[in-house]
Amino acid sequence: STTTTDTAVSGRVRVAVRLRPRNDEEMVADADFADCVELQPELKRLKLRRNNWDSDTYEFDELLNEFASQKRVYEVVAKPVVESVLEGYNGTVMAYGQTGTGKTYTLGRLGDEDTSARGIMVRSMEDMLANVSLQTDSLSVSYLQLYMETIQDLLNPANDNISIVEDQKSGDVSLPGATVVEIRDKQSFVELLRVGEAQRFAANTKLNTESSRSHAILMVQVKRSVSGSENDYSAESDTPSSRGNTYSPPILRKGKLVIVDLAGSERVNKSGSEGHMLEEAKSINLSLSALGKCINALAENSAHVPVRDSKLTRLLKDSFGGTSRTSLVVTIGPSPRHRAETSSTILFGQRAM
Ligand code: ADP
Ligand code: MG
Repeated sequence: STTTTDTAVSGRVRVAVRLRPRNDEEMVADADFADCVELQPELKRLKLRRNNWDSDTYEFDELLNEFASQKRVYEVVAKPVVESVLEGYNGTVMAYGQTGTGKTYTLGRLGDEDTSARGIMVRSMEDMLANVSLQTDSLSVSYLQLYMETIQDLLNPANDNISIVEDQKSGDVSLPGATVVEIRDKQSFVELLRVGEAQRFAANTKLNTESSRSHAILMVQVKRSVSGSENDYSAESDTPSSRGNTYSPPILRKGKLVIVDLAGSERVNKSGSEGHMLEEAKSINLSLSALGKCINALAENSAHVPVRDSKLTRLLKDSFGGTSRTSLVVTIGPSPRHRAETSSTILFGQRAM
């Protein structure tokens, strides 16, 4: 059963920081310089260099350095969320950071050439497939892109303006018209991600933009039929488990996992941008700052989470707060040349704590 304390704890946002290794360009260009950050995973602390003498220290739930494996990242960032989704709650996993710092590497890698490389999306699905019974349960997936406050279906390019509908009674969010695909094995899921990625590239070429300027959103709906006697805490059920009845009808347990590969958080120089670029930058700033406000409200256990301000947060409404779990992985690079962006990324994560 869910006590008040449980709710308060699960309502909090878990924040991990992941540092990617230096890339080839940085090996050369930054050869004479120290990284702008130093991670202290045992202390759950991160130091951001201010200059050669001083640094600021920040605390996070987890620090994942350049040696952290994809498996470890999954276990720390996503596994607790996946487990609660299997129990019938909603949950969100998001990656936030500057373009090129590893959001897609962390969430979206398919790992077909090397299974140890697979990211959080594939690992979450594997974990779910291993824990449901496909005779009685179902896993279904939608894959979307949110660009300039418009939702596009990555599984059907004809659906290029999907609306968000909220059930007045339950508060559940749905996307009528979005393609929903039932998943029965890992391979078909990986194929679906591949199709979605190709479609994303095609759509963005047509719109003359880059995938880093939009949010990619994977939604996994889990429906499980749980025998009444097993049921302790279903969100869907009014049946107390402790009555010791001779017969308890099966109970439907529904959970939703949303995985969001956010648009790059770099501040586009507004004075230098005009026309379409400026509109795009404004739109990204709007949705990321709306997300920041919601995450702050969750972190503060505020009764009011301001979801109305953007499509991104409206879409996530039923995955925020209450019994839902939210996990944020903040991705950063080591280059001292990107210290300012890295600092603002770290502060976004810090405000969620
Ligand atoms: P983003 O999605 O944030 O723009 P990517 O995931 O595309 O960034 O990563 C940018 C580049 O850095 C890619 O070439 C990717 O393979 C590499 N990279 C990112 N994170 C890591 C990591 N932890 N280890 C090794 N390479 C990484
Ligand atoms: Mg990316």
